[in-house]
Amino acid sequence: MRRALLYLIQLALLVAAAIWLAERPGEVRVDWLGWRLETSAAMLVVMVLALAWVLAVLRGLWRWLRRAPGEYVEARRERRREAGYEALGRGLAAVAAGDAAEARRLARKASGLLDEPPLTRLLAAQAAQLSGDEAEAERQFQAMRADPATEFLGLRGLLTKALRDGNREQALALAERALQLKPQAPWLLKQTFALQAEGKRWRPAMATLADAAGRGAINKDEARRARTALLAALAEETSDDGEAKHLLAEAIELTPGFTPAAVALARLHAAAGAERKAIKTLERAWNAAPHPDISRAWLGLKAEAPPLDRMRWLQRLIQSQGDHRESRLALAEAALDAHLWGEARRQLQDLASRPTPRVIRLMARVEREEHADAEAARAWLERMQAAEADPVWVCSACGAQATGWSPACGNCSAFDALEWKVPPRIQRIDRPPALLAARAAEPVPEIPPAPATG
Ligand SMILES: [Zn+2]
Repeated sequence: MRRALLYLIQLALLVAAAIWLAERPGEVRVDWLGWRLETSAAMLVVMVLALAWVLAVLRGLWRWLRRAPGEYVEARRERRREAGYEALGRGLAAVAAGDAAEARRLARKASGLLDEPPLTRLLAAQAAQLSGDEAEAERQFQAMRADPATEFLGLRGLLTKALRDGNREQALALAERALQLKPQAPWLLKQTFALQAEGKRWRPAMATLADAAGRGAINKDEARRARTALLAALAEETSDDGEAKHLLAEAIELTPGFTPAAVALARLHAAAGAERKAIKTLERAWNAAPHPDISRAWLGLKAEAPPLDRMRWLQRLIQSQGDHRESRLALAEAALDAHLWGEARRQLQDLASRPTPRVIRLMARVEREEHADAEAARAWLERMQAAEADPVWVCSACGAQATGWSPACGNCSAFDALEWKVPPRIQRIDRPPALLAARAAEPVPEIPPAPATG
């Protein structure tokens, strides 16, 4: 309606202009370069308008001619792109459905149609993996890695493959590079940390751990525990005693019940002549978590003292945890050394209902040393087979047992996997490990010959 009105107004203006021109006749004469044009003013206006119209038409025609081939090409490209994306989508669906042959066919089709290597290479790599063509998958991931736009995806594919192949060194290098590209990816932070720790690269692992904890990729408790282990590992590695003390002190600060750090720190203090510091460290550790290594280190401070003095010295350590199993065991042994049989029996009494090898060995010693009762000693030692084990360092990853704590499991290299606990029974039978060998090295009482039967 408005357009019609506008049109009418324009028409009216045009008619008015024509009338106005017709009412004012005049002549126009142009002399130019030997040419002469004589006409009426009205005709000149008409001619100018006609010329303008012709020019406008020509310009439109020219623009259309110029655009047409491009538009044709673009339209064709658009159709190819559409077909390419369709192949890509169907290819990804084939990967998801586990149809390797179809996935590979569609991957080839998509890469022929699409000029988007990032996407088509990913599909090609996945299709190759699906059909078990590891070499082709790796080739695709390597190509992706070489292109800055897809480097991360390529690294991720290669990392997964390296982990699957058990190639930890290569996996670590890939993870570290990937982390440079995406320093905030939680899975990558965790993976890199695990590989660094496993590879005993303690310092880089420490930095990655701090980063991972800061970004919430590893929860606080886990991070605290891992940091404690890393500090102890670094202390073990360094030849600078001052630095080692510093590291161990922080480890104890983080985890007061972490015996290995406390014992190592006390030894360093004692070696430097700082006995009071050693004493304080061991006392605090015993309060937090009694452990035979602590009482051993404690007695080591009075290695030259007579047995009775050593026992009194031990009483000072255990007083805060007098009823603890470790307190009783340590005291019973010291009492035995001091020939205080009654005290040794008193300490072992509570533990004798469910004796472990350590209890049994001490009871056998009491029987043999107090009354030279070989029969009673042998009766105790016969209970060894059925006895529940004493706590040891057990790898939570592979179940192997170790005599001492270490940051990486000696059997499976898992980081911070050793826990002080009673090993599952089956492990003692299936895997007579280093610990049993070490126990064999402990002073084991001789078993007297069995009396002849019959
Ligand atoms: Zn292990």
